[in-house]
Amino acid sequence: MVKKRICLLLVLILTFSLSFSTAMAKKNDVQYGDIAYQHIFHLTNVIGARAAGSQGEADAAAYIYDTFRKLGYETTIQSFSYNRRGTDYYSANVIAVKPGKTDMQIIVGGHYDSVTAGKGVDDNASGIGVILEVAEILKDVNTPYTIKFIAFGAEEVGLKGSFEYASKMSEKEIKNTIVMINLDSLAVGDKMYAYGNDGKKGWFRDKALQIAKKLKLNMETNPGINPAYPAGTTGDWSDHKNFKDLGIPYLYFEATNWELAPYDGYTQTELDGEIWHTSKDTLEYIESAYPGRIREHLNTFVQVLAEFLKTCRNSPIE
Ligand SMILES: [Zn+2]
Repeated sequence: MVKKRICLLLVLILTFSLSFSTAMAKKNDVQYGDIAYQHIFHLTNVIGARAAGSQGEADAAAYIYDTFRKLGYETTIQSFSYNRRGTDYYSANVIAVKPGKTDMQIIVGGHYDSVTAGKGVDDNASGIGVILEVAEILKDVNTPYTIKFIAFGAEEVGLKGSFEYASKMSEKEIKNTIVMINLDSLAVGDKMYAYGNDGKKGWFRDKALQIAKKLKLNMETNPGINPAYPAGTTGDWSDHKNFKDLGIPYLYFEATNWELAPYDGYTQTELDGEIWHTSKDTLEYIESAYPGRIREHLNTFVQVLAEFLKTCRNSPIE
């Protein structure tokens, strides 16, 4: 009996340690956000700054195009030019389509250009990294709606890429678009936010916040301290604007801090104020000043966006 008991004990210990090591292995396995991080590294530390109209911007477009193609998506380039202070510039949107069960579609977009200061890690390699990872997660998943992933060019010089796309949408496509999801500057702000329209169309923001809560992830919305930007909404300073102008509801993910003066959403962190559009927008600086923050944010936004796209069926406003 004693021997048998020892045997049983050994089996129990072995079983316990095996399952424990499996759990650890899972924990140390690939995490949500890791793929996004790799793309951010490539866009910022291999390619570098991606100012609108520059070689860096063109290299980023090619990299995004190749990534979508390798994932198996039908991918196209929408080239456009714009004139700024008397000079013509060229840029492009990169569009990958995931057919869904219906023609009804969700547009998931973010800009890949940057300013010349820093390397545009937060603004906005972070948004593109999350889009590319979510495209990878969903490539073999059936989604209720068709999803159009769009990487916009030339945002920093006046939302040019999103204007190009939105202004060429047919009436039918506008009608078929249930929501435009914009991702801009996700990596470094103190708080992770989801914004949406005021009123009934804000349902999409509420759905994203519900998902975050269910997954026990930190996400909130603009608290509305500043009456110019009512609670839950945000300003027209990024690519969602051009779709909002067409009457399409928007859902916008961003990290900043609305609780810091002057309460306009531009002050991103207590420590630094603004990181975007400064020389601090690099992996080296953000990792040293905010250890672990980029990975936490990518992990959160990837999970919420992927879950949103998998489960978004019908809004109560339809
Ligand atoms: Zn931006």
